This record gives sequence, C-alpha cells and structure tokens, in this order.
Amino acid sequence: MSFTRLMRFSAINFKQGLRGCDPWGCGNFGASRGGHTHKGIDFSIPEGGAVYAPFPCKVIRHGWPYANDSRYRLIEIQGVGGYSQYTAKLMYVKDLPAVGSVFHEKQKMCVADNISQKYDSRMTNHVHFELYQNGQLLNPEIFF
Ligand SMILES: [Zn+2]
Repeated sequence: MSFTRLMRFSAINFKQGLRGCDPWGCGNFGASRGGHTHKGIDFSIPEGGAVYAPFPCKVIRHGWPYANDSRYRLIEIQGVGGYSQYTAKLMYVKDLPAVGSVFHEKQKMCVADNISQKYDSRMTNHVHFELYQNGQLLNPEIFF
C-alpha cells in the first residue's frame, strides 16, 4: 500500500485572493465559459502586480493564450525536484522570464498583464493558472 502526500503550493499572488465572479464569469475551476468550462483558477492581480512561483520550477515554454490576439502571453512551467510531475500554464503575464529560468517557490517570475482591457473594466484583472499532473488536467484548488 502506498500513500501520496498532497503537495501544497504557494499562491502566485500571495494573499490577494481569487477572482470570484464578475459580469464576464467566475474564476473557479469548472466555471461556465459558454460552450466549455474553465480549465484553471484565476488569481486576482492588478496590472503590473508580481506573479510568484507556486512551487520550485523551471520555465519550459512561452506561448499565446489566444490564437487571434498576440498581445497576450503565457508561460508554462514544470516543477523541479519532488514537483517534477506537475506542469502549469500561467496566462496573461508579461516581462516573461527566459525559457530555462529556474525559480524557487515564492520567487517573483513575471508580472500580470491587463486582461480586463480585452473585455471591459468590470472584469477583475487576473492571472489564469492551469495545472497538469503527468499531462492530465487537475483542479488546482485543493493545492492552495
Ligand atoms: Zn481563467
């Protein structure tokens, strides 16, 4: 018989909280997004606010969350050490760290972009966090 200990992550915004609900939707995992469901959780962060590493990690990729809007960026990170089975996508960030950069938990990685500007000011500005374990999407809520 084996036991898997639940890993704990650090909030990427420390204690600024989650997005909650606004006229554009809710920030929880599984929230409705019209024809699909929300694949991550949204941390409330003002534009320019720091984004911290949730666990010891390495930046493995830069990408674009929207196929038709190259203004917005994402980074994908992979855990190091005991966290290596986890990868995560952080969307709507800027001042991107180079691919290959390594961070310790709670170290500043980048800053929040202004995603509410794409919609309107009633959207709570946020960074989207999407978690995978061995490539499989997970609800990240229990890790924080
Ligand atoms: Zn989101």
